[in-house]
Amino acid sequence: MKCKSQVEIKDPAITQTARGGFMAKGTCPHHPETTVCAMMSKDNAEKAIKAGAKKAY
Ligand SMILES: [Zn+2]
Repeated sequence: MKCKSQVEIKDPAITQTARGGFMAKGTCPHHPETTVCAMMSKDNAEKAIKAGAKKAY
């Protein structure tokens, strides 16, 4: 799926995985019907939340 490599996520919500990792979930800015997600470090997750991402964990 081409959106997999997307670094940009529209309206991201930060969630935590069962293993304690962090993930940003949102919509592809180019394909509004497509949900994309990206693994992220705790650091980046906290940064994203400070920058306005939804905290979903
Ligand atoms: Zn896309």
